[in-house]
Amino acid sequence: MDKDLKYFKGVIESKGHLFTRQKQSLLQLLIESDIHLSAAEIQKNLKEDPTSIATIYRSLKVFSEAGIIREINADGTGYYEMKLFSGKPMHIHFRCQKCNKIIDIDSKKIDAEYLKLNMKIEKDNELEIYDSNIVFVGICSSCKSESKCKK
Ligand SMILES: [Zn+2]
Ligand SMILES: [Zn+2]
Repeated sequence: MDKDLKYFKGVIESKGHLFTRQKQSLLQLLIESDIHLSAAEIQKNLKEDPTSIATIYRSLKVFSEAGIIREINADGTGYYEMKLFSGKPMHIHFRCQKCNKIIDIDSKKIDAEYLKLNMKIEKDNELEIYDSNIVFVGICSSCKSESKCKK
């Protein structure tokens, strides 16, 4: 088990949960994936270690509550990505309404603005932000050029 997984195991166990083989495979999948996965996609990817969707949702809930993963809710479907050790700061998401893809907005400048916005909200309201979840919805660049071609 690598260092990160061992750390996650410790976090999960400290919250009173078992770090089962399924939980380990699920986490491994999220660590290796560079896209945001829904529970159904996770289940499809875990076919070597068949896991019921209910178990997947339960594990995802445990991981979210422990702050290990982040859930991005888009149109009633949850998509998941690593939060701890992901190497990515809080970032803004975009969801394409046509292909349903969730994209990370990768821009240092926007990340800085986003952080500033978070800090302003904290200051103005005297609260502390741990995470935030902004999803812009529209049409992605590949769907956009596709629809242009058809016209
Ligand atoms: Zn698209
Ligand atoms: Zn993301």
